[in-house]
Amino acid sequence: MPVKRKSRGRAKGGKGRGAMIQCSSCGQLVPRDKAKRASRRISMVDSALYKELRQKGTYVSSRTETRYYCVSCAVHRGVVRVRSKDERKQRPQIRRRR
Ligand SMILES: [Zn+2]
Repeated sequence: MPVKRKSRGRAKGGKGRGAMIQCSSCGQLVPRDKAKRASRRISMVDSALYKELRQKGTYVSSRTETRYYCVSCAVHRGVVRVRSKDERKQRPQIRRRR
């Protein structure tokens, strides 16, 4: 059977039904392995002040917030993009900060 994606859009593999989670944006129930995960660091202080404090050598704590989006919300928010046939075959590049 020709498939659009090798993973069929999921990270399920051979396992059966997995947990469902709610999309953080629209609330739709999506399988956990299909949902797109976006995590970002949340700081208590704003960026200008943060920069200044870092320069002075202060440790500024921040927490990481992880959100799950359904595919349509992830595309809308720019978490993932629609990729061409050839691009879909490639592994997505993982961006890492420090
Ligand atoms: Zn959604």
